[in-house]
Amino acid sequence: MYGKMKDHLQSELKAIDEAGLFKRERIITTPQGANVHVSTGEDVVIMCANNYLGLSSHPDVIQAAKDTLDSHGFGMSSVRFICGTQDIHKELEAKIAKFYGTEDTILYAAAFDANGGVFEPLFTAEDAIISDELNHASIIDGVRLCKAQRYRFKHSNMADLEDQLKAAQAQRFRVIVTDGVFSMDGDIAKMDEICALAEKYDALVMSDECHSAGFIGKTGRGVPEFCGVSDKMDIITGTLGKALGGAMGGYTTGKKEIIDMLRQKSRPYLFSNSLAPAIVGAANKVFDILSESTELRDRLEENTKYFKDRIIAAGFDIKAGNSPIVPIMLYDAALSQKFADLLLQEGVYAIGFFYPVVAKGAARIRTQISAAHSQIDLDKAIAAFIKVGKELDVIK
Ligand SMILES: *Cc1c(COP(=O)(O)O)cnc(C)c1O
Repeated sequence: MYGKMKDHLQSELKAIDEAGLFKRERIITTPQGANVHVSTGEDVVIMCANNYLGLSSHPDVIQAAKDTLDSHGFGMSSVRFICGTQDIHKELEAKIAKFYGTEDTILYAAAFDANGGVFEPLFTAEDAIISDELNHASIIDGVRLCKAQRYRFKHSNMADLEDQLKAAQAQRFRVIVTDGVFSMDGDIAKMDEICALAEKYDALVMSDECHSAGFIGKTGRGVPEFCGVSDKMDIITGTLGKALGGAMGGYTTGKKEIIDMLRQKSRPYLFSNSLAPAIVGAANKVFDILSESTELRDRLEENTKYFKDRIIAAGFDIKAGNSPIVPIMLYDAALSQKFADLLLQEGVYAIGFFYPVVAKGAARIRTQISAAHSQIDLDKAIAAFIKVGKELDVIK
């Protein structure tokens, strides 16, 4: 049997490659950080990690992980409700709830699981899920696993959201779901307007804060804080795999009864392993660091401004936004790949994105700034962008 399937897979893979869409992994031989060494020999500045706060290799976070290995062991060999809950798991859930000002939190192995397991236990065919068209794949999959009626609104388009809310008035419960920050453009959801519409049309509000928790908003509490609606949110999902240490793990935080029900019925929680103690211990440290001071998010904001100002002054076209995601627009898929290759030769690691990851004709290099970047790192990246930009006639 496999012979037939092998031929089929080989020809599909070849087609992917010939379309220029084959994803290849670049191998890093050092810890994640502002600078890394890649297996092909280059020392490069990373401009494409979700390491917004530089916590992926922060010494205090590493130490906390080591200490927790000693105090709580390596693995749990269990799901949470059998024998996979330690004191540190409860401690982390409470810290996350305190961070957001919510009532309770449930941990998952990933935010993909948090989003995959949030809808089906709460909403049935009687209900409506109203989702931004650019929401993350894990939200789309989570919605697919649930029998609720689906409504989609045009990206951040409040008039269309209102139309969808009107169309969904016959349903029992309605929930509006949006990414907090959209990862490809770096734009921020209009959470204040969304919450106002939710009030008017009697809907719940859920935000996925994966690309905002820890650094968007005055104290880094994310998009609800940025938009002044922290007290209006019903459900927040997020990841420990980006700004918050960058290892892995996800969570859903919000109203007590919602979290209680997820503990009873959410399938990725019931049927997948407990988060490893070292990750939990390190994440507890991350929330301590973020609760003590806003130094890292402040530095990230300064770094973002520094980079953006100089990239704009050099003549590049960037997507405007209020996040550390700075997409440098090239509009041509082949050019975006060539640009990224030449950047690497200049010691800058960035990735070109093109259709279908972004819209047709909207190819770009997406850069992501980190609090870990020094001015020297940013200057190196800016100089490389200018050099390659001139070489490829993108700027004068
Ligand atoms: C990265 C991301 C996820 C998935 O997070 P993991 O913890 O890596 O599974 C979910 N939603 C959004 C918006 C993301 O950016």
